[in-house]
Amino acid sequence: MTIINKISELEIWLRVNHRDHESLGFVPTMGALHRGHLSLVRYSQADNHRTVCSIFVNPIQFNRAEDLAKYPRMPEEDIRMLEREGCDMVFLPSVEEMYPEKPRQVYRFGPLEEVMEGAFRPGHFNGVAIVVNRFFRMIRPDKAYFGLKDYQQYLIIKEMVRQDQLPVEVIGCPIVRESDGLAMSSRNLRLSEKQRATAPVIFRALSAARDQYRSHTPESLENYILRFFADIPECRPEYVSVANADTLQPVKHWSDARSAVVCVAAYFGEIRLIDNILLY
Ligand code: AMP
Repeated sequence: MTIINKISELEIWLRVNHRDHESLGFVPTMGALHRGHLSLVRYSQADNHRTVCSIFVNPIQFNRAEDLAKYPRMPEEDIRMLEREGCDMVFLPSVEEMYPEKPRQVYRFGPLEEVMEGAFRPGHFNGVAIVVNRFFRMIRPDKAYFGLKDYQQYLIIKEMVRQDQLPVEVIGCPIVRESDGLAMSSRNLRLSEKQRATAPVIFRALSAARDQYRSHTPESLENYILRFFADIPECRPEYVSVANADTLQPVKHWSDARSAVVCVAAYFGEIRLIDNILLY
């Protein structure tokens, strides 16, 4: 596996290793890799001749300085995991390499960014869209792989690609979970033992919601989910949203949406976790 830090080296690697008629798959990450990330690498390998992964903790998508400072970083371990997986190249640029100047683009994603993560983390998706757009322009992948764990992010990236008319197919991949149901996340590393032990309540609530939604209205389903968190002192839900899976707007009646998703963000201490489940 080739390890590259500079855009100029990336250009050379692509020229030497990537032929036009062959397909290139791309998996963008912020590192501290786990089986969720590696599943994306595997989907890419199954679909493409070559797979490139990026590891970059993107400062402009963090809206809390402390979250950025404490984000886990373990590049050597990440490189070992990608090597074992047979990834062809990993791109680990510095912040200066990605942002020689402060980026000024402003994306408008409309209603899609006015809810959930977009509402609670101002500027987050603009930062995500800018960095993914830069990676897409540098790497020019045919397909790019994103986890449905970040469901809103997946829709935002598809919208960015549509607006900028980029020739990339954006592929959403299933959420990989721990055996107790907790969605894998780099942030899980920061949970205390007690928080880690209680965090699977998110998936328990989401699974029960999926099983029970027919006997609820969308609004009463949100309250049903919130009750799972009510008697857990270390858990502070930020939002529970029953949303149209295409637009992420709240669903009033089940028949209004072709498909519906429940999205949750909850704090365990200072660690913020997100998860979701498709209802239908
Ligand atoms: P991150 O490193 O957190 O920015 O995530 C990089 C990519 O991995 C994103 O597309 C995430 O949605 C995806 N991802 C993170 N956790 C999981 C998971 N548990 N299952 C599937 N994909 C995931």
